Amino acid sequence: MRHRIAVVGGGPGGLTFARVLHRHDHPVTVLERDRAPDARPPGGTLDLHEGLGQLALDKAGLRAGFEALSRPEGQAMRILDPSGTVLRDWRPRPDERANPEIDRGQLRDLLISGLDVRWGREVTRVVPGTGDGALVHFADGRQETFDLVVGADGARSRVRPAVSAVTPRYTGVTSVETSLDDVDTRHPDLARLIGDGSVSAYGVNRSLTAQRNSGGHVKVYAKFRAPLDWHAGWDLADVEAVRTGLLALFEGWAAPVLDLLRHGSAFVHRPFHTLPVSHTWTHVPGVTLLGDAAHLMPPLGAGANLAMLDGAELAESIVAAPDDLDGAVRGFEERMWVRAGRWAELTTAGLERLVSADPAEAVALFDEVQPS
Ligand SMILES: Cc1cc2nc3c(=O)[nH]c(=O)nc-3n(C[C@H](O)[C@H](O)[C@H](O)COP(=O)(O)OP(=O)(O)OC[C@H]3O[C@@H](n4cnc5c(N)ncnc54)[C@H](O)[C@@H]3O)c2cc1C
Repeated sequence: MRHRIAVVGGGPGGLTFARVLHRHDHPVTVLERDRAPDARPPGGTLDLHEGLGQLALDKAGLRAGFEALSRPEGQAMRILDPSGTVLRDWRPRPDERANPEIDRGQLRDLLISGLDVRWGREVTRVVPGTGDGALVHFADGRQETFDLVVGADGARSRVRPAVSAVTPRYTGVTSVETSLDDVDTRHPDLARLIGDGSVSAYGVNRSLTAQRNSGGHVKVYAKFRAPLDWHAGWDLADVEAVRTGLLALFEGWAAPVLDLLRHGSAFVHRPFHTLPVSHTWTHVPGVTLLGDAAHLMPPLGAGANLAMLDGAELAESIVAAPDDLDGAVRGFEERMWVRAGRWAELTTAGLERLVSADPAEAVALFDEVQPS
């Protein structure tokens, strides 16, 4: 039986869900708020783990495409202290494929081909039906009914209220993001500091990370503990004022590390919010969630991976039980909650150690998780 299925959100989770259904010849509609694939910058590079994001791509039949685009050398990681002393300098073996990096835009293009994506379709709310199915309300006033609506619409999900009253809470850690272009040509010293992958420096309750994307593009993340309104009195649109403020926040750090901020272009504020560690809900026929919408956690390299595996597994469950859509969704939710709960615990504890009063904790965490 062919169900009418919509997924709200064309991020890694929603697109993987749609792609796996598509691979099994099951129709699915992707409802995406953005007006076009390139309506906004796609965001930083993602590392896809062997048993998570890469497994999801296998289920989508996209292993070869991933291998052609991904950057295994991007797994390299260097750790410094605030004075610039190198504490760890890890480089992957040539055959290391545990967590290769891929640009978000490249991943999106890989997943999206052949899919029915409706751009510029902002969903405002979803109302479960009295029997099966759910009614989707759009920002332009239109409405449409589906047998199943999957909320893959990220941290501020508009689908989530249909199943859960829980909302994300601020973690106490925030980040300001900036970027550098053509780093090898324009900033060769920084290019050497960053290497093929990423460099992070850890101080008391703050850190600076720079991570290479493809094409000489680098994303820089300043993370620190602060109240949510730490920027009261700042004009976040004033690039030079933000730069000066950040340099003051990292005062005393080595000049080559601070150059990451000195040369950054625009700054974007991204406070880290999370859902409770074991967020579950009473099953609602016709609606479910996956990815950040279901289990928003600190950004420690798991969120997109989990979203993709959620998407692939939900699609496979639906295909495997053509006459029991609701049973397929229920079974998927149970499995997702267990896995997400485990990762939410790990990443929550990880954030405490990465942005910590004792910077040695960050190095200890690196030693615990790093492949030898
Ligand atoms: C700085 C940073 C670095 C990170 N690095 C990594 C990493 O290396 N590895 C990793 O696994 N994870 C990483 N993450 C986490 C990762 O970005 C998220 O967990 C992941 O993007 C979640 O995927 P998703 O598909 O659930 O949601 P999203 O990627 O948030 O996608 C949601 C989609 O829904 C659309 N949408 C939103 N609202 C609506 C609406 N109302 N109607 C229609 N469409 C809507 C959005 O436009 C978007 O396209 C990082 C996060 C941050 C902040």
